[in-house]
Amino acid sequence: MPNQRFAEGEVVMGRWPGSVLYYEVQVTSYDDVSHLYTVKYKDGTELELKESDIKSHSSFKYRKGQSSSSSPSRRSTSRSRSRSPGRPAKGRRRSSSQSREHKDDKKKTIQETNLALLKPSENNTRRYNGEPESTEKNDTSCVILEKLKPDLDMERVHEQYSLRPRKEEKKKEEIYSEQKIFEAIKTIEKASSKTKELEFGGRIGTFMLIFFLPATVFYLLLMCKQDDPSLLNFPSALPALESLWEARVFGVFLLWFFLQALFYLLPIGKVVEGLPLSNGKKLQYRINGVYAFILTAAAVGTLLYFQFELHYLYDHFMQFAVSASIFSMALSIYLYIRSLKAPEEELAPGGNSGYFIYDFFTGHELNPRIGSFDLKYFCELRPGLIGWVVINLAMLLAEMKVHNQSMPSLSMILVNSFQLLYVVDALWNEEAILTTMDITHDGFGFMLAFGDLVWVPFVYSLQAFYLVGHPTAISWPVAAAITILNCIGYYVFRSANSQKNNFRRNPADPKLAYLKFIPTATGKGLLVTGWWGFVRHPNYLGDIIMALAWSLPCGFNHILPYFYVIYFICLLVHREARDEHHCKQKYGLAWERYCQRVPYRIFPYIY
Ligand code: NDP
Repeated sequence: MPNQRFAEGEVVMGRWPGSVLYYEVQVTSYDDVSHLYTVKYKDGTELELKESDIKSHSSFKYRKGQSSSSSPSRRSTSRSRSRSPGRPAKGRRRSSSQSREHKDDKKKTIQETNLALLKPSENNTRRYNGEPESTEKNDTSCVILEKLKPDLDMERVHEQYSLRPRKEEKKKEEIYSEQKIFEAIKTIEKASSKTKELEFGGRIGTFMLIFFLPATVFYLLLMCKQDDPSLLNFPSALPALESLWEARVFGVFLLWFFLQALFYLLPIGKVVEGLPLSNGKKLQYRINGVYAFILTAAAVGTLLYFQFELHYLYDHFMQFAVSASIFSMALSIYLYIRSLKAPEEELAPGGNSGYFIYDFFTGHELNPRIGSFDLKYFCELRPGLIGWVVINLAMLLAEMKVHNQSMPSLSMILVNSFQLLYVVDALWNEEAILTTMDITHDGFGFMLAFGDLVWVPFVYSLQAFYLVGHPTAISWPVAAAITILNCIGYYVFRSANSQKNNFRRNPADPKLAYLKFIPTATGKGLLVTGWWGFVRHPNYLGDIIMALAWSLPCGFNHILPYFYVIYFICLLVHREARDEHHCKQKYGLAWERYCQRVPYRIFPYIY
C-alpha cells in the first residue's frame, strides 16, 4: 500500500474533528480507496481521519511536569478564560497551601482542557440532533465547566495529551475557518457511511422479513375477523381472491395517499432544517402535520355530514390492507431503483451494505426526494399515522352499526381516545422526528415503507378492529383504572422525551440546572439524573405502559388484542440494543460509565 504513511497499530497524534487539538490515537486500519485511517481515541471513540489530520508522535512534546509558566495546558487555560464570556467569576477560591494550589491548578487545567475540547464540538452537538442553534453556547460551556468533576481517570488521560504551543495553536485557529472545521466533522459522518454491520439477521433475515411481515398482518386480520380469534384457530380455507382485492378500494387508498400528499405540500406551517448531511447540506422540512390532521378531520367530518358510510373501511378492511401492501411494495421497488443513481454521500449509513436484499429492505437512499417532497418524512407521520386514527373512527362507527348501538362501547371509546392522544402528540411534536434513527440513520426502503403504510395503520388498530367483532363490556371503575394507567404511561413517555429534547436543545437552560450529566468527547452530555437516570430508555417504558393500557379494554378472552404490546416490547428491546450499539460507538468510555450509573435499560430492576 504505497499511499499508507502510518502503519496499523502505530500510535500517532490525531486531530479531534472540529478542533485544533491533537490527541494520542492508535491507527486501527487504513482504507486505500477512501484514503482514510480508522483511529481509536483513548476514550474508545473510533473515527476515520484524513492523513492531513494525523501527525507522527515525534512532532509533539510530552508534558512531563507542570511548570506554571510554560505548560501548554496552562496557556490553554488562560486562552479559554479570556475567550469564554460565560466562564464563572474570576475570584475562584484557592487554598493557602502551596501543594493544594498546585493541585487546584492542575484540576483547573484539566477542566479547561475539557472545555477546549467541548467548545469546538458544539458543531457536533448540532450535527447529531439537528436542533436549532443555541444562542447561549458559552453558557453551555460554562455549565459543563461548572459541573465537570474530573476524576483520577480523567486526570490520567489528560496528562498524556499534549497541546500545541499557543502561538502555533492560535495561527492554526485562524486558518481553520468554519469551512475547515466542517470538513473535519464530515469525517464523522463518513465513518458511518458504509454499512459494515448488518442488522435484522443480515441478508437471510431481511429476505425472510419481506415475506414474514405481510404474512403476519394478514394472519392477524384474518384471525381477528373470526368469531373465535384464538391464535390456534386457523381459518379452514384461504380467503377468496375477491375478498382480498378490489380496484375501487385501491382507488380509495390512492386518493387518501395523494390527499395527504397535497396537505403536506400546502405552504402552511414553519420550515425547519434537519441534521446536516454528510455533504454538509441541511434539508428543509415543512412542519405542518397538525394542519394536515385538522384538514383531514374537516374532510372526514364533511363526508359524515353527507352520510358517507365510513364503516366501508371496516367492510373492506382486508382489501385496504392488501392495497396498502401492494402500494408499499411498488414504492419500495421505485425507491431502490432510484437509489442506484443516488450519489454515494446520499446513501443511508444503515442501508449501504452492497447487498441487494439487505439494502432493499433497510433502505438504500437516506432521504429520497422528488423536488422538495421528502418521501420518507411524508410517509413517517402522514398517510399511515393519520390513517390509523381514521380507521379507529371507522371501527367505532362500525361497532355502533353492527351491534345497533346508539353509543359506542366504553372499551371502544377508551381505545379510540388513547390512540388519538398518541397520534396528536406525535404530530404536535413533529419536529422531534428529525432527530430519530428513522430519519438520520435508516434509509427509505421496504422496512419503513411497509411499516409506515401497512403495519402502523392496520396492526396498531387491531384493538378497535377486535372490539367490533368481539364486544367487551368494562365497568366504569375498570375504565378509570385503565385511564390512569394510560395517563401514567403518557406522562413518563412525554416528560422523558421532553427532558432529553430540551437538554439537547439547550443544556444551559436554567430550568434543567438540577439535572446532572456525564460529559462526553463529542461535547454532548449524557443525563444521569431525572428520567434518564432512572432507566436508560424511560421513554420506551412509558410507551410500553401505554401499549398495555390500549389492550386492557379488550378484556382477557384472547391474546390477539395483546399482540401490539407483545410485539412492541420486542421492537423496543431490539431498538434499544441498536441504539446502545450506536451510542457506544459515539461516546465510547463515557457511555460505559453511563451504563454503570444507570444499569437498567427499560424496566427498572428487571431489564
Ligand atoms: P430516543 O428518543 O430514545 O433517543 C435515543 C437517543 O437519545 C440516543 O441515541 C442518544 O442520542 C440520546 N440519549 C441516550 N441516552 C441519553 C442520556 N442519558 N442523556 C441524553 N441523551 C441520551 O430514540 P427513538 O427514536 O428510539 O425513540 C423516540 C420515541 O419514539 C420513543 O418515545 C419511542 O418509544 C417512540 N417510538 C415509537 C414507535 C412506535 O411504533 N410507536 C417506534 C419507535 C419509537 P444523542 O446522544 O445522539 O442525542
